[in-house]
Amino acid sequence: MSELKLSSQQLAAIAGEFGTPVYVYHAEKIKAQYERLTNAFSGINAKFFYACKALTNINILRYIKSIGCNVDCSSVNEVELAIYAGFERKNILYTSNNIHFSEIERAADLGVNINIDSLSNLEKFGKKYGHSYPVGIRLRPNIMAGGNLKISTGHAKSKFGIPLEQIEKVLDIAKQTNLRIQNLHIHTGSEIKDVEVFAKGMEVLFEIAHYFPELEVLDFGGGFKVPYKSDEEGTDMELLGQKMKEEFEWFENKYNRKLQAWFEPGKFIVSEAGYFITKVNVIKNSNGTVFAGVDSGLNHLIRPMFYGSYHQIENISNPAGPLNLYNVVGNICETDTFAEDRELNEIREEDLLVFYNAGAYGFEMASNYNSRFKPAEVLVKDGKAQLIRKRDSFDHLLYNQIELADL
Ligand code: PLP
Repeated sequence: MSELKLSSQQLAAIAGEFGTPVYVYHAEKIKAQYERLTNAFSGINAKFFYACKALTNINILRYIKSIGCNVDCSSVNEVELAIYAGFERKNILYTSNNIHFSEIERAADLGVNINIDSLSNLEKFGKKYGHSYPVGIRLRPNIMAGGNLKISTGHAKSKFGIPLEQIEKVLDIAKQTNLRIQNLHIHTGSEIKDVEVFAKGMEVLFEIAHYFPELEVLDFGGGFKVPYKSDEEGTDMELLGQKMKEEFEWFENKYNRKLQAWFEPGKFIVSEAGYFITKVNVIKNSNGTVFAGVDSGLNHLIRPMFYGSYHQIENISNPAGPLNLYNVVGNICETDTFAEDRELNEIREEDLLVFYNAGAYGFEMASNYNSRFKPAEVLVKDGKAQLIRKRDSFDHLLYNQIELADL
């Protein structure tokens, strides 16, 4: 894992000041990740759009903008958030899936870049906008990749994108409606370590690029892997950058055309910048298993239960304690196990447990299930910790509910 980390002392102080459970984000780490990307791909004409579905706190969006990164949105509401955060429309990309055409019309009214993922919406788009609005096409490259099936999006049975084998139909629609196809997009999945998977995606797009005379962009989506364990490696970005440089040079020489590469990294930008701090409510011993029950659950961090993600956990209250095995569990009315048989420094009630890699798809997937409050969020920048979202209060549980008088 990278050296740019918040210390246990900083995290404990934040828990003391703002309470637990709390999400903490480290601005400088976000910047370092973005710089790593721009450096790795400096050999090609590349543009980066942060996939903000990972974390949309408005302060994170504004910080992302301040470091020069653009933004990728998966819903029109995210587009509106991005505009509210101050992004220029040309720097906003809207890549949704299986949405109603009316949402695409709203995105077009807002004037942002649009990727379309179905033949039916492509046809509707062509009929309405013809050549007047450049558009991107989200293709399904039929490549199996990613951390697991739930986050693998480009395989031949996936719901995402227009299947590659339907490219003739895309071309028919483009011809009939005089579409201006500016961008070909793929997103193969999440947590892809193997550089060859990205190379395969490149091959797929280069093979069909010559069908699209007005093409300006190849969009490779997101999905770069970050390390989750101290002995684990993420995607070798420098190797990938070098490979892409060579492939783009080959393409330019062969077809005498220059294309820009777009990327939509989510996890890569914010995962390692995020920490989730919980406090231990109870310790239970049962038939040789020791449960450490924390003041959180799948309502705050669902990733381990949703798709088996691994989060390194540290007991920052007892770092020198003897190592024991624990099941770290939540307080929700389903089995919400964060970690099973995990070796951790002795855990006592009231100890603080920190979950690492909590910046992406952590708070963003949180809910009020069991009528529990969503956690607070804190941003650390220039060494200063500031609250960027208050913990919910009772009012949030009733928000938008209409209380009938005659019950
Ligand atoms: N682009 C698209 C279209 C996506 O669906 C996703 C994730 O679901 C991303 C980018 C970001 O992926 P990651 O966070 O793995 O980089």
